[in-house]
Amino acid sequence: MKKIGITTTVPVEVLIAAGYQPIDLNNVLVADPNPGRLITIAERAGFPLNCCSWIKGIYGVCMDTGIRDVLCVTGGDCSNTIMLMETLKLKGLNAVPFAYPDSPDPCLMQPKLEELAATLGTTLEEADKIRDTLQPVRDLALKLDELTWRENTVSGWENHLWLVSASDFNQDFRKYRQDLLNLLQDCSQRQPHPTGHLRLAYIGVPSVYARELYPFIEKHGARVVFNEVQRQFAMPEPGKSLAEQYSSYTYPYSVNERLKDIKTELQKRRVDGVIHYVQAFCHRGIGDIIFRDAIDLPLLTLEGNDDFFLNNHIKTRIEAFLDMIQRGRRRSVNVKKGKLEGVLAPSKNTPPSLRK
Ligand code: SF4
Repeated sequence: MKKIGITTTVPVEVLIAAGYQPIDLNNVLVADPNPGRLITIAERAGFPLNCCSWIKGIYGVCMDTGIRDVLCVTGGDCSNTIMLMETLKLKGLNAVPFAYPDSPDPCLMQPKLEELAATLGTTLEEADKIRDTLQPVRDLALKLDELTWRENTVSGWENHLWLVSASDFNQDFRKYRQDLLNLLQDCSQRQPHPTGHLRLAYIGVPSVYARELYPFIEKHGARVVFNEVQRQFAMPEPGKSLAEQYSSYTYPYSVNERLKDIKTELQKRRVDGVIHYVQAFCHRGIGDIIFRDAIDLPLLTLEGNDDFFLNNHIKTRIEAFLDMIQRGRRRSVNVKKGKLEGVLAPSKNTPPSLRK
């Protein structure tokens, strides 16, 4: 199959029906042993220092791999992609635009899908057949997600990795399916994660330092049981058609559309606290104001730029956040038990009348 790069999750069914193998360029960036060098390629070409690292990294991957075709999402993801696309065209690549509609309406999505199919030389009937083929693979990814929060046998990192990879199924959906089946088999033999750990949600775009973030959180007595955007990549609401599937996919639409999904899952998964990741220089960071207003749980906002590891500053902030939630939890347990400790911890200066 001919390779086609994608700048974010797109209707891959149409691409595969047209004989293309989608390659998520973001995943290629973070899987590189030295992703910084790909960002440097973009900066040497003239990309500003204050441009998002994902955009620069995608450009670097295109130049480094020599890929010729790229589907650039110009609506519903990132306005920077419009200029990225122009730059790729300048370099002689075949950069094809695709824009999600302004609102999640299947009637608006249908013509977008038809146009994409016509551009790539296929039909939606053919894409529907691929959708049927991919659905069992998507179901396996969602099964893994369920095991994460319900059975507690899957780590936050595994959850992140497999769901984020659903954007292109690691470039081979048959192998992805088999590897995932093997993992699920392995999970069925595991002991559940110990009870008592803090349950966290991760919302926002995938982080540049995900590889270190999830193990660090688990080392400190907590676990991510909900990866918001990554789960969306697996299409949890497939509906009855491609148009419905990509209208229920929340990421391209307003923060309020995303919040409906987030708030439902926070409650269902009994989440204790939320990490909101924002990428430096990304317009989506402004949405933090809305999340903080709407989410009634402790929320830690973390930012990342081009460090693909956790620096000490971020580590300290995570530790303090987890400590704060733990203290709050202990206090509420003590209050429930009717103990005075936690409400007003007695010390040697506490008047005897207030000691228990
Ligand atoms: S993180 Fe933000 S700025 Fe960067 S590519 Fe994604 S949407 Fe665009």
